[in-house]
Amino acid sequence: MKIYNTLTRKKEEFTPIEEGKVRMYVCGPTVYNLIHIGNARPMIIFDTVRRYFEYKGYDVNYVSNFTDVDDKIIKAANENGEAPADLAKRFIEECRKDMESMAVRPATTHPLATQEIDGMIEMISTLIEKGHAYAAPDGTVYFRVRSFKAYGKLSHRDIDDLEAGHREIKVTGEEMKEDPFDFVLWKPMKEGEPFWESPWSKGRPGWHIECSVMAKRYLGDTIDIHAGGEDLIFPHHENEIAQSEAANGVPFSNYWMHNGFLNIDNKKMSKSLGNFFTVRDIEKKYEGQVLRFFMLSAHYRSPLNFSDTLMESAKTGLERIVNAVVNLREKVDITPAETPAKTPAKTPAETPAKTPGITPKDPAGGEVDITPAEQDLLTKADSYRIKFEEAMDDDFNTADAVSAVFELVRFINSNTPDGSSQEYLKRLLDLTLSLTDVLGIDTMPKTDLLDADIEALIEERNAARKEKNFARADEIRDELLNKGIILEDTREGVKWKRA
Ligand code: AMP
Ligand code: ZN
Repeated sequence: MKIYNTLTRKKEEFTPIEEGKVRMYVCGPTVYNLIHIGNARPMIIFDTVRRYFEYKGYDVNYVSNFTDVDDKIIKAANENGEAPADLAKRFIEECRKDMESMAVRPATTHPLATQEIDGMIEMISTLIEKGHAYAAPDGTVYFRVRSFKAYGKLSHRDIDDLEAGHREIKVTGEEMKEDPFDFVLWKPMKEGEPFWESPWSKGRPGWHIECSVMAKRYLGDTIDIHAGGEDLIFPHHENEIAQSEAANGVPFSNYWMHNGFLNIDNKKMSKSLGNFFTVRDIEKKYEGQVLRFFMLSAHYRSPLNFSDTLMESAKTGLERIVNAVVNLREKVDITPAETPAKTPAKTPAETPAKTPGITPKDPAGGEVDITPAEQDLLTKADSYRIKFEEAMDDDFNTADAVSAVFELVRFINSNTPDGSSQEYLKRLLDLTLSLTDVLGIDTMPKTDLLDADIEALIEERNAARKEKNFARADEIRDELLNKGIILEDTREGVKWKRA
């Protein structure tokens, strides 16, 4: 697998620190508002990266923070007459809902800045001890940028070339810096702001330190991948490297990945231009799935232009894939071993592995009723999986991976006539689902069935089973499944859930 590494500006072969494992940190949003569609881009992209690593069999430890204390949060909370912590908590909940609607899976850990203050104080103390940071008389602690020789290695800037009069100089209240490039690790509180006790002042951390501390705590001193939007390269990620490497004495992250920006009708999204959209705004017209599919239709490093036309075409494309899967699922008898099955019921060993390459022969040597012609077709279908993987292995080229799925879908639509064998259909379905799952495409149709309708059908199925009318019972299970309702037979009876 090759990854474009911002640090080296090259595509490099991915070698994990620990075999079979990926330690990945993605900078998350500052939660002072509903997330906007720009914030959604790194969420969707790096969720897809995570999913692909898992598809390849890696165990991924995925950490993404919520910045729940900062100037914007305090300002928004004051305007509302609300405590900053309450406002942040509310928007974290809203963010989680947006993530769910876009099929962005929760991280392994979502640390909160306000819960990691002790670790931040500890790292700042280490930096002071090592001469990389200093406390000014007013209780502000600064990182001494010139003490870290490698400063600028990520953004490929030479600090001496950076023009004097850099904007950081002009920040009022920071006149006690030794050097204009020094940045804040800890700042004293202002009246009415939340604060924590520290050896330097009652105050709160600067923004950059939280990510260094959380990455260390949850993933270790050196991690595999650190990611975020390209606006974070400088100064945020440059500063994270300086803090972590100066404190820990080892490289911070082996690979740095950055997504390009999302623009609106070729303009930067901004409130003042009136072209600022939250995910919620967009969801009034399109499902979160459409937004996700739209984001995946471009390479993550390219700038992406958001427009109605492109969203409409994402919607049509997504429907094409979902419809093909729904049609295929209808042809496949998904019934478990209630009825004497034509083919032996699958044991766990036979169920396809996470990465089901299509093998023409049944791996367990059992009887399969695939015809030789179908075997040839499966080989052809498998060529789209190979294409998909080649695209994803090449720096997560989701645009080409999506094209491979379109080709597979076109192939399925014209090669699944009535009379196809069940095994053939099942393998096509497994293959397709394994790829759509990497992209996070939900192929389960949404149902408009009411709870009462579902429960009535379950009652009917129970009655059919009592009468040993297993055919009807199976039919009901499949009917519900096709409408996105999953049944589970438990000791306490039948449970159901919406997919
Ligand atoms: P923020 O809340 O501004 O710290 O942003 C959270 C994440 O969203 C970061 O990874 C940013 O780089 C990313 N981001 C913000 N705006 C955009 C945008 N317009 N396009 C792409 N990514 C963005
Ligand atoms: Zn960060």
